[in-house]
Amino acid sequence: MIRFSDVRKTYPDGTVAVDGLTLEAPTGQITVLVGPSGCGKTTSLRMINKMIEPTSGSITVDGRDISGMNADELRRGMGYVIQSGGLFPHRTVLDNIATVPLLLGVPKTQARASAMELLERMGLSTSLAKRYPNQLSGGQQQRVGVARALAADPPIMLMDEPFSAVDPQVREQLQDEFLRLQGELGKTIVFVTHDIDEAVKLGDQVAVLRVGGTLAQLASPERLLAD
Ligand code: ADP
Ligand code: ADP
Repeated sequence: MIRFSDVRKTYPDGTVAVDGLTLEAPTGQITVLVGPSGCGKTTSLRMINKMIEPTSGSITVDGRDISGMNADELRRGMGYVIQSGGLFPHRTVLDNIATVPLLLGVPKTQARASAMELLERMGLSTSLAKRYPNQLSGGQQQRVGVARALAADPPIMLMDEPFSAVDPQVREQLQDEFLRLQGELGKTIVFVTHDIDEAVKLGDQVAVLRVGGTLAQLASPERLLAD
């Protein structure tokens, strides 16, 4: 479980991005942060893996305050997926997926075999393995981005608008595949989107943020729809 306790982030120019956020992202569930542009979603997400330090308040992961943890150690347990896919442009699809496992010391043949399996699980043909990212469609790049994040089998996944850069039809496919996969894997997921429909579809729990970085509502999708 990830827990935010009265977390604030003020940037050096005085912008208050997150203002007293308290919430829990339960283990094995999808918690969606939703709200308009500038409400502090990305800042909140990046505080979880220490890309950004909170100005005050605390964040714990499984009861451990992350302020005292080494960032590299923390990130070993966290996959990170961004909108553009964030793939390494000069590496093949296979190498993109296998990079982290190889860095972690997984033997090469095993890393490659797992990468191929992940490609298939993301609904991609293994014949794409030798391509470079610019030889893939946007939707394929997003799938590879998710596969790469899953390759290290992290218990936690941080996802920042991962399906936003693709057209609506592909987005729906990606959402469905993602839900199916999560049904098997049961990761602890924090998912950022500005799209309320996506939030309601994917979230076990939805945190609605307002501009100014405050929490407007924390509810199940069913409750949000009823309100
Ligand atoms: P969201 O992801 O919801 O669009 P962000 O977390 O990116 O929101 O940004 C929240 C607020 O903080 C916005 O007002 C944004 O302009 C501001 N902000 C983000 N990054 C910085 C930064 N490095 N310096 C100053 N202000 C920033
Ligand atoms: P920007 O929009 O500021 O360019 P990106 O989202 O592209 O930011 O930045 C991601 C950065 O975080 C990259 O430089 C990358 O090296 C680093 N990074 C990669 N994986 C992780 C991870 N699991 N957790 C935190 N940071 C990561």
